[in-house]
Amino acid sequence: MKPVLLKNGRIIDPATKHDETGDLLIVDGRIADKSEIRNQQSEIETIDCTGLVIAPGLIDLHVHFREPGQSAKETIATGARCAAAGGFTSVVCMPNTAPPVDNSSAVTWIVEKARAEACVNVFPTGAITKGLAGEELAPIGSLHKAGIVALTDDGHCVQSHEVMRRACEYARMFDLVVMDHCQDYNLVGKGVMHEGSVSARLGLAGWPAVGEEIIVARNALLAELTRTPIHCQHLSAAGSVAILREARKRGVPLTGEVCPHHIALTDEAIRSFDTNFKMNPPLRSKEHVEALIEGIADGTITILASDHAPHSGFEKEVEFDLAPFGILGLETELGLFLDILIHKRKAVSLSRLIELYTINPARLLGLARGTLAIGAVADVTLIDPDLEWIVNKDQSFSRSRNNPFHGRELKGRAIRTIVAGRTVWAL
Ligand SMILES: [Zn+2]
Repeated sequence: MKPVLLKNGRIIDPATKHDETGDLLIVDGRIADKSEIRNQQSEIETIDCTGLVIAPGLIDLHVHFREPGQSAKETIATGARCAAAGGFTSVVCMPNTAPPVDNSSAVTWIVEKARAEACVNVFPTGAITKGLAGEELAPIGSLHKAGIVALTDDGHCVQSHEVMRRACEYARMFDLVVMDHCQDYNLVGKGVMHEGSVSARLGLAGWPAVGEEIIVARNALLAELTRTPIHCQHLSAAGSVAILREARKRGVPLTGEVCPHHIALTDEAIRSFDTNFKMNPPLRSKEHVEALIEGIADGTITILASDHAPHSGFEKEVEFDLAPFGILGLETELGLFLDILIHKRKAVSLSRLIELYTINPARLLGLARGTLAIGAVADVTLIDPDLEWIVNKDQSFSRSRNNPFHGRELKGRAIRTIVAGRTVWAL
């Protein structure tokens, strides 16, 4: 592999608190000291990065790749191509496949499939409970041995606090984080959209904010009791941010993530009855959106993710009540967050936004990724923060098309994705 010199870009590496214009050298798939350039015998490939940001390869710790079992929606190979096209060099895939990842052979299958077919790093998670049923713990030790990076029943939520407590205690023995899809089944019932004035007017069953908040509160208490890190996935509600803020202030190992759709859209979008606006947790009202943005700005929320959830057209082309929850996200999430958080709202700095996508998820899950330090694996994302573009769902690498942002104008996107020194996608 030829050495690569990324020339004259703004190098932002929050892990090493680095933010300055310069060159980055990659030799043998790793970040090298620039002085090594003199020792290079082979020809060096130079990429002009004038006007671009050179960031550590972005990490999305919440994606659904649908393999095994539902490869018509997405495969590990096509999901990985979406990741690359969105600027992501690493993804963490959820275990709610068919069958679910609740045993070590399922983990091994994914690891091997990803090694053979994926153009980015794919890190698997394992189920907290057998069959994601919330009753009996999965074999956490053997899942860990097989290579999972976290536990989660995502798509489902462990309702028994006692089972969740035991899961945390086992997870701690293996230094695993427990990630949770926060949803109280009794409070949410058959809710399909945010419970509020819009759901009342449309006559659709409401999914109340408290249905999420009550589980975030449970997780704060269990993280404190067991001293096990719990990560609350795709937070959508103002009360969740408040509980997380209070718990973190007291040093409780609780973290939370926000997905772009929860700040880019509100429940007003559902007036169209377009099922591409149906996700779990649901789009909420303006007050909740403001609270999420405030939580990102003040450091309460430390991670951004997509919850990339492909569904086939025939499944979404049904009545709103009957459609599955979820939307595509990998190819649009960086553009949406740059557009909203940096350009429109000026809520965070570019360096902070990159931190939420790199070193923070890497540290949470113990991944040896997320930095441009010398010697690190050369996973790099080149970003043009000012490039204006229009989302076109028909240009997606996904097998699915459930994208509510089709036609939306955005400012900022990734333009090249480099995994271990090799370009896997470029605009
Ligand atoms: Zn979920």
